[in-house]
Amino acid sequence: MNRTNKVLLIYTGGTIGMGCNPLTGALEPLDFNHLVDNVPEFAQIHTEVDTYQFVPAIDSSNISPSQWAQIVSIVAKNYEQYDGFVILHGTDTMAYTASALSFMFENLTKPVILTGSQLPIGQLRTDGKENLMTSLELASAHHSDGTPIVPEVCIYFNGHLLRGNRSTKQNADEFNAFDSFNYPHLCEAGVNFTFKEHNILRPDFSRPMIPHTDLDSNVIIFSLFPGMEENLVRHVLEAPELRGIVMRSFGSGNAPQSPWLTKLLKEASQRGVVIVNISQCISGQVEMSRYDTGYHLKDAGIISGFDSTAEAAVTKLMYLQAAYSDPKTIREYMHRSIAGEITIPRTE
Ligand code: ASP
Repeated sequence: MNRTNKVLLIYTGGTIGMGCNPLTGALEPLDFNHLVDNVPEFAQIHTEVDTYQFVPAIDSSNISPSQWAQIVSIVAKNYEQYDGFVILHGTDTMAYTASALSFMFENLTKPVILTGSQLPIGQLRTDGKENLMTSLELASAHHSDGTPIVPEVCIYFNGHLLRGNRSTKQNADEFNAFDSFNYPHLCEAGVNFTFKEHNILRPDFSRPMIPHTDLDSNVIIFSLFPGMEENLVRHVLEAPELRGIVMRSFGSGNAPQSPWLTKLLKEASQRGVVIVNISQCISGQVEMSRYDTGYHLKDAGIISGFDSTAEAAVTKLMYLQAAYSDPKTIREYMHRSIAGEITIPRTE
């Protein structure tokens, strides 16, 4: 395997490259030169870094599937020239982007590492420099046979390397902004790197990576709560364009047994809407047979999302809906792990 020790750094925006608007005092995205000027360490690293900048840089709250497709196209176009890719991205929606990319890169054989920061890189106490420098090292880390150590879409933040489609933003203030509650970390970056190799995906290095850029976003995330109003729920579930629902249920996958709710869910499911049940809990998994309040959902045609994050479930639906028109096929794929996003219990 040919190695070049070259990484492509893609700057999309986010706090890491932001500065203060002098009029409002609010943080706003600045261009990449501002970021580079604040990182003289670039000159000291062994890895050769080329850059690609989104113009204009964006706050990640404004990210959309078209920009995910843009990232996929840039990586695909440059795939052979680089050992790995680092994507600088705002933290707010980083877990959605990482999840979407994990499905859009089929048979990924190189690292794609997303990172950002909680404080802009120009500030004295910034966490951005460490996140950026370590991500560049991780993106070019390799085994003695030349294969990359982490050929996955990952999020690196605050010393932890996480599988992208298992990650969630957990804190808006602290430097430890991300965690993967249902999956172990892939590497701890302390004084040394401690890779957890048995947790890292091994793709088929003899096969090419296949990029996918189409997504169908006719999906919603529907969070259950006590006191839901039938009419409001009906408007959502009967929307004609709707093809997929990520239903965030209680505990191990339970929902109110109100006949109207069961009826609306069942009708939607029979119309071909794929309804995926995930838990509102931050960790643990859906097991619809555990309680009666979960069992009736199975009867209504709702499928288990197992231990999926909402970010992974919604982007997986977008990916599958663009690839398949038949709800049966989409349900089948939702029950399989495509990029390590779910753990399927042995009983299934
Ligand atoms: N609002 C910013 C963004 O997501 C926050 C951040 O980067 O941390 O782009």
